[in-house]
Amino acid sequence: MMESNKSSQAYPMKGGDGVSSYTNNSSYQKSLAEVVMSLIGEAIANKLDVQSFVGGHPFLIADLGCSIGPNTFIAVKNIINSVQLKYQTLKIIPTPEFQVFFNDHASNDFNTLFKTLPSDKHYYAAGVPGSFYARLFPRSSFHLIYSSFALHWLSKVPDEVMEKGSPAWNKGRVHYGGAEEEVVMAYKQQYERDMHGFLNARAEEVVCGGLVVVLVPGRPNEVPHSKCIGNVLFEILGCCLLEMAKEVPLQLNKYRLFTNN
Ligand code: SAH
Repeated sequence: MMESNKSSQAYPMKGGDGVSSYTNNSSYQKSLAEVVMSLIGEAIANKLDVQSFVGGHPFLIADLGCSIGPNTFIAVKNIINSVQLKYQTLKIIPTPEFQVFFNDHASNDFNTLFKTLPSDKHYYAAGVPGSFYARLFPRSSFHLIYSSFALHWLSKVPDEVMEKGSPAWNKGRVHYGGAEEEVVMAYKQQYERDMHGFLNARAEEVVCGGLVVVLVPGRPNEVPHSKCIGNVLFEILGCCLLEMAKEVPLQLNKYRLFTNN
């Protein structure tokens, strides 16, 4: 099934390389991706079944929700190093050529991404626009699909959260931390629908013996939603946004008064 642009909402990261760009404000994501790199290396060593797809074809990698960089370049480099090591360990010669497909919403700043591609990269690069909640690639074509810090972006805000009469109405707030159970359930159900779409699409796209690597922020079972540090931060951010939204009419009034004088 091809993507319908109307079915998902796109909020890509801030482009360019200015002070508020994603490029200059993503060291947290970068450090966590580096922490788990050894685990990814282990998964490649133990689970990627390269024997089932040797034969002169290029090794295809996708980074879904790659944003602008530099994190995606670091992750891709580490993945390729681990895959090359695996081929060398198994004495499969020659190691394959690599092609990397960088995916994000069409409105992502792909220009900056391509301008900043590392000059010493050992792969062919391509961009693929579209939502990863639907099919992006042909059937059985990819050997390794990676996605980090992107799958917590739901495809949409659940409708009932925004409906005033609904028991799941979230009263204009931007997050479920500290909200009623009905609100949490509405977000949970949306996540289930989205993950279903994501996993079904990847199951079609990945080759037999390939690997899908997903990094997502999580919550320990015993910690309630309202006490989870990430959620607390979103609550504070949400309050600030609501305050700012309330201020807008005041600012407009001030402006009107000023111009009337
Ligand atoms: N993977 C990078 C960027 C994470 S920011 C890193 O680890 O640093 C999350 C990215 O996911 C954003 O660029 C956002 O546009 C993208 N994203 C969110 N939902 C998406 C979707 N449905 N399809 C494709 N990209 C998506």
